[in-house]
Amino acid sequence: MRTVLRSGKKISSLSNPIGDYPMTNFDSLGLSKELLRAVEYQGYSTPTPVQEQSIPPLLAGRDVLGVAQTGTGKTAAFALPVLQIMSRSKPQGKRYIRALILSPTRELAAQIEERFSAYSEHLDIRHKVIFGGVKQNPQVRALQRGLDILVATPGRLLDLINQGHIDLGRVEFFVLDEADRMLDMGFIRDIEKVLKLLPKRRQNLLFSATMPKSIADLAGSFLNDAIMIDVSPKEVTVDRIEQKIMFIRKVDKRRLLVKIIKEEKVKCGIVFTRTKHGANRLVKQLDQSGINAAAIHGNKSQGARTKALAGFKNGSIPILVATDIASRGIDVEGITHVFNYDLPNEPEVYVHRIGRTARAGRSGIAYGFCDNSESGYLVGIQRLIGYEIPVDEKHDFHFVGAIPKPGQRPGKIKEKGPAKKKQHGHKRPQRNSKSEPKRHHHRSKRNDSQRERTDNRGTRGRTHSRRSNNR
Ligand code: AMP
Repeated sequence: MRTVLRSGKKISSLSNPIGDYPMTNFDSLGLSKELLRAVEYQGYSTPTPVQEQSIPPLLAGRDVLGVAQTGTGKTAAFALPVLQIMSRSKPQGKRYIRALILSPTRELAAQIEERFSAYSEHLDIRHKVIFGGVKQNPQVRALQRGLDILVATPGRLLDLINQGHIDLGRVEFFVLDEADRMLDMGFIRDIEKVLKLLPKRRQNLLFSATMPKSIADLAGSFLNDAIMIDVSPKEVTVDRIEQKIMFIRKVDKRRLLVKIIKEEKVKCGIVFTRTKHGANRLVKQLDQSGINAAAIHGNKSQGARTKALAGFKNGSIPILVATDIASRGIDVEGITHVFNYDLPNEPEVYVHRIGRTARAGRSGIAYGFCDNSESGYLVGIQRLIGYEIPVDEKHDFHFVGAIPKPGQRPGKIKEKGPAKKKQHGHKRPQRNSKSEPKRHHHRSKRNDSQRERTDNRGTRGRTHSRRSNNR
């Protein structure tokens, strides 16, 4: 099947990937022995669907558009072929950036670089991750020594380009990871700037968890005759996860959360709030109720985020309170509970959130707290997943006023009250000019937290992508 994008460029779609690539082990994917050794050392026995489908066309030099989210093994899907092709030829002289991987968040960028370390263990490839919120000097020194692969968040990348520390003029591979999140975070102009700095002849990869029209347009603007791969796990995860909706007043949400956490003795749960302030407040409130929790969001320092995640992973912190942006890319196994403390206004985000649980064949439960301002969001979510989520009316705080009205349309319910300030122009959040923090400055704590606030607003009215489960 071929999809023609608006730009007129073609994308080949692998709708039946298993049939197209009937491979069951890494050996048959055409990877070098160095990479096979590294993969074996990682304990990977069989390629995941996105790896099975992406690696052969990428090794053949094709562009790839992948609909896949974190947790599907997509990093290896692009890292392995990039490493293999790069190690085939070794340019003489000082190293220069041959592969650029753009990632929306620091956490994801760090995870990607960590995967590159693992997969390139037996290769002479030098890589580095750069992102904001930390001193730039070590990053600059690494750049000056010479690199083959650069993993970066857009803000710090452009910052260092502007300072003359980075030359993208000889990039052979460009990977845009989590493209939908990039757009939601207002990075489109940064991406466009980066694209202008890349040489025309190069191989491109775009990965996105969802495929709304904006991403298809972006893909069409720089991918060439790309193979499209769709391994979106919507049906798989949603089916395996027990879901419950609880209608409730906003003021009662905290008490309900505490009650469930205590009654169900939650040891590994993630609570999603809409704003970073909401996350901070909730952590304090949980603490007052004797529940150990940590917040993770864009206003937290890198150190605080790493500490919170480590505590969550090792079980010392049972509850992580997160905003969507900060939580993206976090891959923690064994999450038993997901709480949609605030329902997301974007239906696909709901699917991503609840997909945090029930990983690797385990089961999990996802609670959605729906207050009267969020009933339209519930309508949108149910429309996307195609069925009504079971309602728990038996809890102590059940509130009929939050139940969607018959025929209610998806989307935000207009709240009565003073008129909101009008947003001018494009959805992109106002920024100071850099998307990563400025050095030596208090404002350095901005960046993705600002976007978290604007994220919900920015995505309103997005088209829903239609995803198919290939398995
Ligand atoms: P990613 O979606 O790239 O973030 O990968 C998610 C997790 O899956 C990471 O912890 C990887 O180490 C792991 N992983 C990637 N590929 C495989 C594989 N073929 N078999 C088992 N685990 C894998």
